[in-house]
Amino acid sequence: MALVICPECGKSNVSDTAVSCPECGFAIKAHFDKIKFEEIRLKTEKQAEIRKQEFETEQKRRQEERIKNVPQLEKPQLIAPIVVSIISAFIILLGFSMSCVSDLEAEYSSSHGNGDPRFQGGFLIVFGLCILGYAIYLFYKRISAYNLSRNNFEEYQRQVIREQDALQKRLEAERAAKTKQQANMPKCPICGSTNVVKISTLNRTVSVATVGLASSKIGKQYQCKNCKHKW
Ligand SMILES: [Zn+2]
Ligand SMILES: [Zn+2]
Repeated sequence: MALVICPECGKSNVSDTAVSCPECGFAIKAHFDKIKFEEIRLKTEKQAEIRKQEFETEQKRRQEERIKNVPQLEKPQLIAPIVVSIISAFIILLGFSMSCVSDLEAEYSSSHGNGDPRFQGGFLIVFGLCILGYAIYLFYKRISAYNLSRNNFEEYQRQVIREQDALQKRLEAERAAKTKQQANMPKCPICGSTNVVKISTLNRTVSVATVGLASSKIGKQYQCKNCKHKW
């Protein structure tokens, strides 16, 4: 309790807990309660704002630290791409040699249950080209990353973190989508199993046509494969 001046009539030594001013009847308590309440609200808001800023600064600091900790990329080794190129070249050559057969030879092979070598050869060529193409793509990416890490190490570090974050985001989105899908999946009301099939309209019509009105599928949409319950 404190003694205040009435804000309405200016009478001094009025208690701030008095319901009304003894002079003019002004609602003293309600007035000062409102001021106190407003002060508390502002203070809480300010604290929340400070906490939010602290959190954001901390997040930023952590992100910068992650970026700084990305190590320098080592020079790419040529051995792996060379080995992959040799293997895919071998597969492509094998495919060519298999597809370069005469009609007679092809027919002979087919009639002995070994399939058409021209078709198999074609498949091998495509397969070899796919391996080669993918290897070139990976090697190109590796070289680009290496060049960037040498020319602009900081930008390279940022890019690595960006890629990590994008991957993380994608995985999280996939997980969220899966959870949502599971939540929307029909569940058996008896045993709770999600191993449930939808009874198609056709299936239901056939069932009704063959066993008549006794069909257990009338008015039922789902069947549980676990306990055979229909609902
Ligand atoms: Zn007053
Ligand atoms: Zn069930």
